Amino acid sequence: SVPLSYFASIGKAAREGILIKGANFIDALRSTRIVAFDKTGTLTKGSFRVAEVVAKNGFSKENVLKFAALVEMHSNHPIAKSIIDAYGEIGGSVKSYKELAGRGVRAEIDDYTIIAGNDALMHEMNIEHDSCDVEGTVVHVAVNGVYAGYIIVSDQLKDDAREAVEDLKELGCRVVMVTGDSREIAERVASQLGVDEYYAELLPEDKVRVIEGLKAEDGIVAFAGDGINDAPVIARADVGIAMGGLGSEAAIEVADVVIMDDKPSKVARSIRLSQRTQRIVW
Ligand code: ADP
Ligand code: MG
Repeated sequence: SVPLSYFASIGKAAREGILIKGANFIDALRSTRIVAFDKTGTLTKGSFRVAEVVAKNGFSKENVLKFAALVEMHSNHPIAKSIIDAYGEIGGSVKSYKELAGRGVRAEIDDYTIIAGNDALMHEMNIEHDSCDVEGTVVHVAVNGVYAGYIIVSDQLKDDAREAVEDLKELGCRVVMVTGDSREIAERVASQLGVDEYYAELLPEDKVRVIEGLKAEDGIVAFAGDGINDAPVIARADVGIAMGGLGSEAAIEVADVVIMDDKPSKVARSIRLSQRTQRIVW
């Protein structure tokens, strides 16, 4: 039987905006050794803004944005939203559409085949493109096989992201960041937050593999994500944690713990609460 104190802790956590979906997760949280975080939408706000547009091969900046907006209209990735915010809504006749998780999007709209996404996607599609060393995430755009240019979008750290990492380290947890974003951005964010260990340029299935590896190495692993491309990772972790506000429905569904206000510092808080829960049955 479950000690009454577990339900008291679940209630206390709920009042703090941390939804723990079962008494068994109190025990798992208590013994968590590693906490892995997704980057975008979890440690960062996930609200990108277009910082710069660079046009190539005779395209205008306006057109680079327009073609990007045409494909991104159909994506619910936070990057897509920033491009629609910058250009405005736009429609066309969509013949095909494919979201390439962790890389970008490809669609046939009107008479155009449009690809928007990262370096890896351009390589995959054999599009000759610039390699840019910039302070932001680069979205390359290609139209009918021709490189049109790129859009630089940037995100911001969440206010409590640094505190989230510090608190976990204080609790003796190993903190890891996993991201689909570029190595350069991962390195910068990791150093700003004091995360010593990070894995970048990961596809969703690579993130699952990293979590499996950590589980094999070092015991109980918690993973916190927003569910955009990482719901399977949340499902696979010993303690799957979803951001409740930003998170996708799928993520909230498979998660063991839901943080209602998206604050990563509440990961440490939930571990602390669990460690204070009396295990004795009176
Ligand atoms: P993270 O792991 O940081 O949460 P994602 O897995 O969601 O990031 O995405 C990884 C990378 O894939 C992004 O940094 C971006 O380069 C690219 N990407 C994903 N979706 C899109 C999109 N809709 N448009 C353009 N690029 C995208
Ligand atoms: Mg994410």
